[in-house]
Amino acid sequence: MKKYEFDPAVRNMLERSGIPYAVYQFIGRRFITLALSNGFLELFGFSDREEAYRAIDDDMFRDAHPDDVSRISNATTRFALKGGEYNVIFRTRTPGQKGYTIIHSQGEHFLTPDGMTLTVVWYINEGTFSADDVMRESDLLHSFNRQLHEETLSRETYYDYLTALPNMTFFFQLADAGRKALREEGKCPAFLFVDLCDMKTFNRKHGYSEGDQLLREVAGVLSRTFRLENCGRFGQDHFAVFTDAEGVEEKLKSVFEQVRQIGGGKSLPVRAGIYVDDLEPVEVSAACDRAKMACDENKSSYLSIYSFFNRDMLVDAANRAYILENLDRALEEGWVCVYYQPIIRAANGLVCDEEALARWRDPNRGILSPASFIPILEDALLAYKLDLYVLEQVLKNIKRKTARGLFAIPVSINLSRSDFDVCDIVEEIRRRVDEAGVSRELINIEITESVIGRNYDYMNTQIARLHELGFHVWMDDFGSGYSSLDVLRQFDFDLIKFDMHFMQDFASEKSRTILSELMRMTQHLGIDTVVEGVETWEQIIFLKNIGCDKIQGYYYSAPVPLETIFEGFDRGE
Ligand code: C2E
Ligand code: CA
Ligand code: CA
Repeated sequence: MKKYEFDPAVRNMLERSGIPYAVYQFIGRRFITLALSNGFLELFGFSDREEAYRAIDDDMFRDAHPDDVSRISNATTRFALKGGEYNVIFRTRTPGQKGYTIIHSQGEHFLTPDGMTLTVVWYINEGTFSADDVMRESDLLHSFNRQLHEETLSRETYYDYLTALPNMTFFFQLADAGRKALREEGKCPAFLFVDLCDMKTFNRKHGYSEGDQLLREVAGVLSRTFRLENCGRFGQDHFAVFTDAEGVEEKLKSVFEQVRQIGGGKSLPVRAGIYVDDLEPVEVSAACDRAKMACDENKSSYLSIYSFFNRDMLVDAANRAYILENLDRALEEGWVCVYYQPIIRAANGLVCDEEALARWRDPNRGILSPASFIPILEDALLAYKLDLYVLEQVLKNIKRKTARGLFAIPVSINLSRSDFDVCDIVEEIRRRVDEAGVSRELINIEITESVIGRNYDYMNTQIARLHELGFHVWMDDFGSGYSSLDVLRQFDFDLIKFDMHFMQDFASEKSRTILSELMRMTQHLGIDTVVEGVETWEQIIFLKNIGCDKIQGYYYSAPVPLETIFEGFDRGE
């Protein structure tokens, strides 16, 4: 039997889904992986799709609990050979942490248009237990075993054990039938995706049993508001609802209010996305995906909030997929390159530093600015690849400059918050700079308030490590966030870069006064200053008067590629 090949567009669509599932083909008594969704990669902690395909093909249950492997392998094979239902619970190592996550997997066979039998398996995260807490683990293990037992006896496969809402598979069936019925009544169906804000922190703070209780109560609110058979739990703190589009906003607001009151206020805000199903016909699963896209619009919100799906989100999702799929290629084939923007010393008008800014010169899409790819990479925890690549280019270019007899000046690189989360970024930087044989003083590190985040102790340690190694650390976008002054007080920066909004609001006297006073304070602290976004001579005069050390902006130069700097040099500028 040959390996089935999806049409690339279909495969792409399958892979983009945020719902955890996999499509397999059974050839010669083993499963071949045909498609893994984004939700699958996230659930099992894969950052790279190709690696996931390889790993799953090699050993589908490599991270499963040793005690569960034989049982699930048996069940899987029985299902493959004899068909019927696949409904298996097992424990798998929690990605990046100690302990195990309970996974509920359910599968079905289906026929492709050309008559091939394939298998789709959905995975639902049924909760985590930590190996740190022996008591809790044994409790959970106990309830897990009991549930396993009951599951095996009753073969109950339609309702979620925790909340008693329909599970995802059953919800899809109910919603498909339900929306037909609604349409026949001349009504318009809508799908909701409902997510709680920061369930992880809630579990950490109050414990898993309180977390489970909260989920049960939220499920209760949903089923009372929309009727049980119109709701489903998709695992974790994710719920879906199918309903009449009319009046949906009022109902959702009432859900927000009811959830707020759960546990006398010991509850969480709710994020929701609404997909009104009056566009082109889509599968129920795709409708839920669209509701999830709308929900994810407010990912950073910590207030109850909802958004409607719109077509731009499909474009955004397609762009996101394009960037993530092509990142490695863009780095390997040199689509990503570094532009430099000079920073001028106010006292003498000479270039004293440069800032390295990434550009993605796409063969199909032209030049992409950082705003169109950096947030996507940050979200996917992949910004470190770009940032280290930019550093490598900067190091190469420093050597090229020196080889041409140009004086090497310090270059600053930008880091993202996730760089500190996914690798030892300080060590990665040190190693590359040292291997290139470039003096550490030639690399400055720019970090913003958002990079610092809430964990001040951790960031202080990282900044101290950079300092010990001889790197200068700059605070970027000073004055743009809420806690700039606090950050200034708690951290040891070599230079403060004032955010460009001070220049954009230059006409306002208030803004100029704030800038001069902040500048005075920074000088008293003995910290160097740069103002960025400087575009006019008038601004430069003002900045010189208030004692600003360095100036960056279009007045002197926009960011340009190294070649342009070389051309200027060759012209004797
Ligand atoms: P940023 O670090 O605040 O960079 C300054 C941005 O302002 C740059 O935009 C620059 O082109 C622009 N700019 C400079 N002078 C002027 C001016 O006079 N007027 C105006 N209106 N704009 C000016 P760019 O290159 O689009 O970068 C945007 C942001 O993307 C950067 O903001 C930085 O946060 C991020 N970024 C860029 N490259 C990288 C990178 O390699 N790694 C990371 N992590 N972030 C990067
Ligand atoms: Ca910067
Ligand atoms: Ca900046």
